[in-house]
Amino acid sequence: MNSNDMKEKTAILYSLEAPNEEQERRFRNFIATRYGEGYDFRWEKTDAFPGGFRLEVGKEIYDWSVGGRFQQLRDTLVKVPAKNGNIIPLIKETIKSWTPEALAQEVGVVTTIGDGIATVEGLDNATYGEILVFKGGTRGMVQDIRDHEISCILFDDDKEVSEGSSVHRTAKTAGVPVGENFLGRVVDPLGVPIDGKGDIKEADYYPVEAPAPGIVKRQPVNTPLETGILSIDAMFPIGRGQRELIIGDRQTGKTAIALDALINQNGKDCITIYVAIGQKTSSVVQLANTLKKYDALDHSIVVLASASDSAPLQYIAPYAGCAMAEYFMHQGKDVLIVYDDLSKHAVAYRTMSLLLGRSPGREAFPGDVFYLHSRLLEMAARMADEYGGGSITALPIVETQAGDVSAYIPTNLISITDGQIFLENELFFSGQRPAINVGISVSRVGGDAQTKAMKKAVGTLKLDLAQYREMEVFSQFASDLDEQTRKQLVYGQGLMRMLRQPQYHPYQQHEQVIILVSAMAHVMLDVNVEDIDEFLKGLLEKFQLEYPEIGEEIDREKVLSDELKAKIVEVAEAYAKDFLKRKQA
Ligand code: ATP
Ligand code: MG
Repeated sequence: MNSNDMKEKTAILYSLEAPNEEQERRFRNFIATRYGEGYDFRWEKTDAFPGGFRLEVGKEIYDWSVGGRFQQLRDTLVKVPAKNGNIIPLIKETIKSWTPEALAQEVGVVTTIGDGIATVEGLDNATYGEILVFKGGTRGMVQDIRDHEISCILFDDDKEVSEGSSVHRTAKTAGVPVGENFLGRVVDPLGVPIDGKGDIKEADYYPVEAPAPGIVKRQPVNTPLETGILSIDAMFPIGRGQRELIIGDRQTGKTAIALDALINQNGKDCITIYVAIGQKTSSVVQLANTLKKYDALDHSIVVLASASDSAPLQYIAPYAGCAMAEYFMHQGKDVLIVYDDLSKHAVAYRTMSLLLGRSPGREAFPGDVFYLHSRLLEMAARMADEYGGGSITALPIVETQAGDVSAYIPTNLISITDGQIFLENELFFSGQRPAINVGISVSRVGGDAQTKAMKKAVGTLKLDLAQYREMEVFSQFASDLDEQTRKQLVYGQGLMRMLRQPQYHPYQQHEQVIILVSAMAHVMLDVNVEDIDEFLKGLLEKFQLEYPEIGEEIDREKVLSDELKAKIVEVAEAYAKDFLKRKQA
């Protein structure tokens, strides 16, 4: 046995008074249960801990040195309204007032520190995801556990921490504050407000990473989540609880689609959360202002980890946003959450992982980057009615390079999500906005959630568009076309034009039904492609002014009877006649 082992098998109690027989028995008991037999227990007199004691077992230290402090800490911990008491809020002020030095725990030593990452020795029992407290109250989260050391990421400035400084375990996981008061606010990934509107009183703390609801607690996706964007609601409908990926190159309108979907939740009993990862602060401020302008901020939370934030902060941002969403879901509410975007999230995670010394894999991402995103998106769910019936619908965004969907992160996300909306550069620049590629976009579950009215109104739209695309390619080679082909081309062009939709102009459900029914009945066949915007606008106005009961019936009944459909076609045809006459005059 070498001297080191000798030291590790010693337990020393430091205090002013010697422990009495009963106390000593308890100490020995505690040591035997926790560390096993064979410890040499002894008492050393010291006046360093008046009213308290310190127990050193091997390299672990139990420090009850300041009598009242421990109790006070316990009290503070109890006051935190966390549900399972197993969470440490990441907000600095709270932890500082907790005097963590007094917590009975193991103490380790920092061996290296830098770039927001610290390696620590001597905390053999620390677990993955546990919060460690460094000198000065800096908090870190355990990310890597190796034989003799662990690595953790830091959430605060690492200035106060240096090599050799001590670290304490907390035996608790990271949590973010959640609650109704966060609505209408812009916060950082730790839940600290950054909009200058004052403190936010939390209702609870939720763990940054909670297990996803199990299959028993879920129910199938069966309620639509309307985006107000005609092409999406008609052909790639999204249901509450679904995960639909928005994928496309830079500047193809990805954020615009998400933003419109957020704004469209006005008055629809759906809370919205926008998580910005690695973006410019200025563009997120602008987005928050836009939400406000369209009266959507009141039911929204914006979580911002900007490009200048540390990799660890960017890494936890979507999880923090998700924790805020879970709070509402557990209350039976519906939430729509946008992660903008997960490419930057993956890059932040890669940076962090490389700093942690993990070996790089494909495209230098760590091997578990797939798991990183599947864990996050698995949280999207529609809860069974016994569990409140709430839901989280996720719209993750991923950026592609030159339309390459076979890159690592995009393929991962495509396989994790329930469908994709592909945006294309070419379409975007040709003026087809939103630039959705109808041919390869898909929604694998949302169809079940579409209302009967929408389903009936959509008819063969997708098929007609597919036919049009085939013909379009083929017609480039033929100089003169027969009448039938020409008509189909014109019809297809009209449909494509109909799907163009400016930003911030969501359609209501009945408006979409009216447009679709009219279009599928070839009502706009003779309308010039350039005039279609004007035509649709006038058509909806006519229905609004002269036949408001039609819209009301669709919105109320959510079905489209044959009579109603015929009525819509009749009105639309009459309108088209007038419209064409006016145009020719
Ligand atoms: P980035 O890759 O930079 O995040 P992005 O793909 O999110 O870009 P957006 O920022 O949403 O793209 O849109 C790019 C530009 O296109 C913006 O100026 C936006 O206003 C405009 N735009 C997006 N959608 C539409 C639309 N339907 N009609 C008109 N303009 C649009
Ligand atoms: Mg964007």
